[in-house]
Amino acid sequence: MAVDSTQIGKKYSLWINGEAVPGQHGETFPITNPATGDVITHVAKATREDVDQAVMVAREALEKGKWATWPASKRSQILFKIASIMRERLSDLVQLEVLNTGKTVSAAKGQVYQAIEDFELYAGAITTIQGTTKSVPKGFFHYSVKEPVGVCAQIIPWNYPLMMAAWKVAPALAAGCTIILKPASLTPLTAYALAEICHEAGVPKGVLNVITGSGADIGSYLAEHPGVDKVAFTGETSTGKDIMAKASQTLKRVTLELGGKSPNIVFADADLEGAINGSIYGIYYNTGQSCEARSRLLVQEEIYDQFVEQFVEKTKQLRIGDLWNQASHVGSIISREQWEVIDSYVKSAIVEGATVLCGGRTPDGESFAQGYWYEPTVIVDVTSNMKVVQEEIFGPVVVIQKFATEQEAIQLANDSYYGLAAAVWTTDHAKAHRVTSQLKAGVLMVNNPFSTFPGLPFGGYKQSGFGRELATESLDLYLETKSVLSYTGPKPLNPFQL
Ligand code: NAP
Ligand code: MG
Repeated sequence: MAVDSTQIGKKYSLWINGEAVPGQHGETFPITNPATGDVITHVAKATREDVDQAVMVAREALEKGKWATWPASKRSQILFKIASIMRERLSDLVQLEVLNTGKTVSAAKGQVYQAIEDFELYAGAITTIQGTTKSVPKGFFHYSVKEPVGVCAQIIPWNYPLMMAAWKVAPALAAGCTIILKPASLTPLTAYALAEICHEAGVPKGVLNVITGSGADIGSYLAEHPGVDKVAFTGETSTGKDIMAKASQTLKRVTLELGGKSPNIVFADADLEGAINGSIYGIYYNTGQSCEARSRLLVQEEIYDQFVEQFVEKTKQLRIGDLWNQASHVGSIISREQWEVIDSYVKSAIVEGATVLCGGRTPDGESFAQGYWYEPTVIVDVTSNMKVVQEEIFGPVVVIQKFATEQEAIQLANDSYYGLAAAVWTTDHAKAHRVTSQLKAGVLMVNNPFSTFPGLPFGGYKQSGFGRELATESLDLYLETKSVLSYTGPKPLNPFQL
């Protein structure tokens, strides 16, 4: 079935064993366009019985199906085919993503392209899956083989719905695993589209299943389900801790891509204009709803006043709204609840003595009266102990702090329980690499606002999680290593001399 945004009004079913099926209790829940507040469709609400069914078919597909045992070239062809169908349906996928998330069309397009490239990356990487043979004592022969880790529960967030699905589904398929994908309840539409595309490309029944419903209920149930071998999760740090605790009951493999509060260090010798433009992108891209958002801006004291003045001036010029205009910069907030969270953080900063230099409100204008909109916001006069400096806000809000020395910048940057990303702006390359080597984060940027491209490892230090995605080494997180030691003598050894 073609993915067509004209189907937006249709009711979406669960995707189990290669077909759309209603949940066993037939319940649904509404999906909203956050840019307008309108309900755009309804999706099936899975029960725990539906989860049991999805896990059962995924296990059957793993153990009795062909997927894991097909030659690598065949799985590779199917992954390339998935990417090529996604390319054909690019504009439909982009439309679905914009309607369901309130993103600008340019952000959505970039993310759909990245999802496509991810499938292409792993289609090629399949051929790198290989065992080894090690040196062993005379008479012995050894080899190791890689096998799929098994049935994988993949639980993803709402901020990059299709891209996060691709980051997880592509390497798991490449490794020969079977999958139960649980998208965020706010943004499930492109996950369904991806399931249909995978099916059309030749992924056998039961290999990829999509279930929708409450994370606290069915997500949590998946994390503890004895039929699941691995949980791959992207979302909030607190949810990740809960999932890890549940998964520990059956010692599932776990990978966690969690929250961030990433520092963005601007030294006095930086190219000022470039650093300002890049820092603005670093926080306001995707309306600040990015795990890698550089939401703590650290600026050296010699340029602090000049930097802040120009940063605020340019922030005020960002184009917000008109999502379908390629030139728009900032979209809507994902939900009313998230809008309230962001606003309460800004208000808490004011109460604690900080100063809001711009934003902190709904933009003026009729088009912002509906939906959930928040002006790009800049907060200064903050101290390290304030909530807005320590906690992830996950919205278009940046805090700016001043530092004097390189050592102070490093100390402030590392003063966080998160460790996802960090950026450094300086024209002194020796300093750039001296500083990056001391920053406790998994994804570093130097004079550059882009955090990653397909093929580069993405993931966190500290409470931003563990495991890496987007890179060929992620394949290993979906594989087990089996070591086989055999004896080649004419008669088996008799170590007990019996
Ligand atoms: P979230 O609230 O943790 O939810 C993420 C997913 O987990 C959703 O599918 C959710 O389902 C489900 N879930 C909720 N509670 C659960 C539970 N107790 N057990 C199992 N699953 C549960 O995260 P979010 O608000 O969607 O996303 C924002 C967060 O994601 C931010 O912290 C951001 O930094 C992080 N993120 C990290 C990365 C990275 O690569 N490090 C990338 C993107 C986003 P429901 O939607 O039904 O609640
Ligand atoms: Mg959440």
